[in-house]
Amino acid sequence: MIDLLGRPLRNLRLSVTDRCNLRCEYCMPEDDYVWLPREDVLHFEETSGLVDVFLSLGVDKIRLTGGEPLLRRDLPALVRMIAAKPGLKDLALTTNGVLLAGQIDALRDAGLGRITVSLDTLHRDRFLKLTRFDQLDAVHAGIASARRVFGQLKIDTVVMRGVNDDELIPLIEYGRSVNGEVRFIEYMDVGGASRWSPDRIFSRHDMLDALARHYGVIVPIAEPGSSAPADRYLLEDGTTFGIIASTTDPFCSTCDRSRLTADGMWYLCLYATRGIDLRAPVRRGASKEEIAALISGGWRARDDRGAEDRVALGDRRAFVPVQDLLRKDPHLEMHTRGG
Ligand code: SAM
Repeated sequence: MIDLLGRPLRNLRLSVTDRCNLRCEYCMPEDDYVWLPREDVLHFEETSGLVDVFLSLGVDKIRLTGGEPLLRRDLPALVRMIAAKPGLKDLALTTNGVLLAGQIDALRDAGLGRITVSLDTLHRDRFLKLTRFDQLDAVHAGIASARRVFGQLKIDTVVMRGVNDDELIPLIEYGRSVNGEVRFIEYMDVGGASRWSPDRIFSRHDMLDALARHYGVIVPIAEPGSSAPADRYLLEDGTTFGIIASTTDPFCSTCDRSRLTADGMWYLCLYATRGIDLRAPVRRGASKEEIAALISGGWRARDDRGAEDRVALGDRRAFVPVQDLLRKDPHLEMHTRGG
């Protein structure tokens, strides 16, 4: 099934909770938030039923995210329900790593395929400042546990000018030491990034410049046909890393991602201001065929190119003003939508 721009429905990000145990400056900088009503959050059986429909329509990659997905009680039970489904090729988890060490064995036993841990700094004081919690040691323990259980992992780092742009090389070295491929993400002006401003972008160009000054030649890795957001690069010693340049050079033309929030709203673009409510039909007992028709109708009409539209604006500032919109609709928040 393809959308109006020829992009297939393949990649589903399942946000299992809007709660988080960190308050990252680029994602949740405010003091208080409007949370999804508890009773709206889908039960695992409801999520699993929707996943069946998505799989029948072409989705073959699922990433569990949030909020912080490890805050969702008994997450391994959901992993077990999803991992066994026919047609699923890839089941991944994105986590801040704080609770990972305690759950990793259960997640692997349930069938989780791979893990990405978000880590923006190796300095304890900076971690505290950036996330408002003194949890760097717990993240290191989580990363060590992921390495023990899966052998390898990915590490996602949001790079902000003047905050952690001096840590690219230490993070690559750290990644090498834990068998983690680091992916540097440009600071995006997504909903929730209410303190975003263009002068805080550290672009792909800036990153490659800084890294080349230290490592010498950096070779782009050709991956024809890939819809992955990260462009990957190779250092002379064989180390690889990725850059996700969504802010300055978006990948909308190949974007096959959509997002289901914990309360069953389906978003076809990270920047979409409206989603398709799948919870209501599920709860009124709609058949799988009816839900499939809703999903395929939505995807076939999809022409979103949100990140490219942002670039085209030229003069950019935070995407959604806090008072006007984020307070009225928590679905606009990155931590609700599922990063
Ligand atoms: N709590 C989990 C975690 O920390 O990985 C999953 C949810 S988090 C919203 C998913 C990813 O979104 C993280 O890697 C985070 O760094 C990224 N993210 C959040 N806000 C961002 C922003 N303004 N720009 C770029 N990436 C962002």
